[in-house]
Amino acid sequence: SLSDRLSATFQNLRGKGRLSEADIDATVREIRRALLDADVAVPVVREFTAHVKERALGAEVSEALNPSQQIVKIVNEELQNILGGQTRRINMAKTGPTIIMLAGLQGAGKTTLAGKLSHWLKKQGHTPMLVASDLQRPNAVNQLQVVGSRAGVPVFAPHPGVNSEFEEVTGDPVQVARDGVAEARAKLHDVVIVDTAGRLGVDAELMQQARDIRDAINPHEVLFVIDAMIGQDAVNTANAFNEGVDFTGVVLSKLDGDARGGAALSVASVTGKPIMFASTGENVTDFEQFHPDRMASRILDMGDVLSLIEQAEQTWDKAEADRMAQKFADREDFTFEDFLAQMQQIRKMGSMKKLLMMMPGAAQMRQQLEQFDEKEIDRVEAIVRSMTPHERVAPKIINGSRRARIARGSGVTVSEVNQLMERFAQAQKMMKKLANGQMPGMPGGMQM
Ligand code: GDP
Ligand code: MG
Repeated sequence: SLSDRLSATFQNLRGKGRLSEADIDATVREIRRALLDADVAVPVVREFTAHVKERALGAEVSEALNPSQQIVKIVNEELQNILGGQTRRINMAKTGPTIIMLAGLQGAGKTTLAGKLSHWLKKQGHTPMLVASDLQRPNAVNQLQVVGSRAGVPVFAPHPGVNSEFEEVTGDPVQVARDGVAEARAKLHDVVIVDTAGRLGVDAELMQQARDIRDAINPHEVLFVIDAMIGQDAVNTANAFNEGVDFTGVVLSKLDGDARGGAALSVASVTGKPIMFASTGENVTDFEQFHPDRMASRILDMGDVLSLIEQAEQTWDKAEADRMAQKFADREDFTFEDFLAQMQQIRKMGSMKKLLMMMPGAAQMRQQLEQFDEKEIDRVEAIVRSMTPHERVAPKIINGSRRARIARGSGVTVSEVNQLMERFAQAQKMMKKLANGQMPGMPGGMQM
């Protein structure tokens, strides 16, 4: 992946005291290759590498950073610039409902996003409503109704969906959009999200329909949803929709796939429009606000501790998260009680693997993570539960005979207990580093 390639490149620079022009050339060449392999559009790659090289050559000798750290910093800043710099939030209406229209190719993930976005808004206290203006695909209305009921959000759908490919859905999508917005206004919904139709390729008739919907409802946001796996086609598609509906923001979907980064960089760079959200799976909660700085870090594999914390806060018990944060702040020791509490939180979050993938150094760990076994959590939990309360908060006292007792109590071997003790010690070390503001996995332990 892109992050694997880039971190390998930076690894090569480690330990160099000074970078020659040849070092910089070689590094930039590697970056170019990695970006192209990740399907970043050619003109974007050219511009990006030119900037990085220029800045690297002109960089002042720094006291604080060694040369490889300096290049990482430059690449990170340039990535952030391309991705839009600041986090862009939804432009909310001052009065009446905030009108959000979705546009994009068929299969891009618009309808799925309608559910995720409305769920996310609802959790923040908004009262969204969905409008079924895709009357193109036979099953589209039904799909939106399913998505809406999963999110617990009402759906405006005056034209019942059909289940057969051979039945026609009739009705005027522009009128549905107009009526839907009126209904939202009348029922005092503060956000209304209008789902629209898309084709497999860019299509003049549907683009006109999208434009007509746009003109009829005058949305506060037009979100262009694009599949992150689309590769080199991203640029043409994004340009066509930018001209067609002049969207205000981009949503990258299917970022859970392999092609992270490539499409994001291309679309943001060629359209100059900000990426606002990322869709990362088929579930209603697989969704996050897009932060250019964090995406840049993720591409560079500095891990994504901030996204992790934010996602955690949504799903985790707030009180527990606060307790951990306070512990970090107070530099208290991480104990088995914390470990156990974290495991329960992780279970709640569902996808252990996805969570770990966002941790610092994930690129190097990817192979092990692929083999990750969720049953392992059960075993670990059984072991910790066999410890006494005192052992949990003072793990140093867990000697050989205590380990034997814990192993018997949890039905595992002593060597499994030993393994856990070792891993716990590592986790403890990592927590200490985090508390001290250091990012593990960075060359020279760069400060956060
Ligand atoms: P639309 O045609 O633009 O409305 O696209 P849909 O919302 O119907 O999505 C098309 C397909 O992609 C469906 O099978 C979705 O389940 C799937 N999908 C949508 N978003 C994501 C995502 O973020 N990750 C993954 N893995 N699949 C997604
Ligand atoms: Mg759809």
